[in-house]
Amino acid sequence: MNEQIAMLLKQVDERKEELIELAKTLIRFETPAPPARNTSDIQAFIADFLQKHEFTIDQWDVYPGDPNVVGIRKGTESEEYKSLIVNGHVDVAAIAEDEQWQTGPFEPVVEDGFLIGRGAADMKGGIAGALFAIQLLQEAGIRLPGDLIFQSVIGEEVGEAGTLQCCKRGYHADFAVVVDTSNLHIQGQGGVITGWITVKSPQTFHDATRRQMIHAGGRLFGANAIEKMMKIIQGLQELERHWAVMKTYEGYPPGMTTINPAVIEGGRHAAFIADECRLWITVHFYPNETHQQVAQEIESFIMRIAESDPWLREHPPQFQWGGESMIVDRGEIFPSLEIDTDHPAVRRLASIHETVLQRETIIDMSPTVTDGGWFSEFQIPAVIYGPGTLEEAHSINEKVDVEQLVQFTQVLLSFIYEWCHTEKQELY
Ligand SMILES: [Zn+2]
Repeated sequence: MNEQIAMLLKQVDERKEELIELAKTLIRFETPAPPARNTSDIQAFIADFLQKHEFTIDQWDVYPGDPNVVGIRKGTESEEYKSLIVNGHVDVAAIAEDEQWQTGPFEPVVEDGFLIGRGAADMKGGIAGALFAIQLLQEAGIRLPGDLIFQSVIGEEVGEAGTLQCCKRGYHADFAVVVDTSNLHIQGQGGVITGWITVKSPQTFHDATRRQMIHAGGRLFGANAIEKMMKIIQGLQELERHWAVMKTYEGYPPGMTTINPAVIEGGRHAAFIADECRLWITVHFYPNETHQQVAQEIESFIMRIAESDPWLREHPPQFQWGGESMIVDRGEIFPSLEIDTDHPAVRRLASIHETVLQRETIIDMSPTVTDGGWFSEFQIPAVIYGPGTLEEAHSINEKVDVEQLVQFTQVLLSFIYEWCHTEKQELY
């Protein structure tokens, strides 16, 4: 580590009051999702902050009241040196009316070495650390040869892919760090996809016709969509069990590949035979699987069950996978993220972590999902690395260890510096 960086790491510690103040400022912006559509102010603040530190800003509405902000600090030798994306979401978990917070969820305080407030762990602490690292690098007059891109995104808590929008807009880099809650582990993740399965009858029947459609000699070829859905739910349970038995992934307990029937809707009212039934499922899969694959597995399994049923064979269930928002189109996708532990950026980050914390780096898999998977989907190698624990995230009196926040800021600062000083050609 060079002397200038060693000095800056010392400064992070000496100036940690400024870091805490910055985190508190971010927490004071009330950005729970749901209800969402409340991030304009915090994004204006972050855009302004980045602009002051020599970033150019690209800002656009993902939804009205929920803009994405991307700051770009072009490297002095972009062509020759590695580029880096640092990504974080500004929305926070929703607050219930009756939650008993020490102060308010948006009135941050520091107590016993912890910063308390909604988003402290997930993930305004991480964003504050990243911004503070950027500030110190810029104040020291350091010009990075490689490009540095800071993505401040919206909607993560409700499956609104602010990060997907950044990828679709063409932002690409040699590596990405999602500074979401990981307790300073370097993490990958399994994925999640939601889907709707619909059983629909082309005809609608009166309740009084039921005898004819279920008993001998009735000669009415119809079905109750709710009852047919029961068969499908049973099939999903069988597939879920089969996956639990057959699929494993190192670092995960077996059986993580669940299929949860989360919501069911169907029928008109008591005078009808239900002519439509819709089931909303949540599917978890391992890091080495894709959402397209697991959706396909479910479809073909269920279609074989449908084949064995005289009515479903003629009226096969329909599938609709994913979506871009739990609020708008009632669906979401979090792609999986595998970690290549031999990737030069992963090795570099791990070794910086060890130097700064004097502790071995833990590389493992997050039990939850973050925006990290989108980078994988767009062929950008990435990891999750941020302060705070999942036990704290989303909890009442959510908090982050101030010491860990300082350490995170030091590691990230050093990593930004080193990675953006790495030649694209460099061999490992
Ligand atoms: Zn998060």
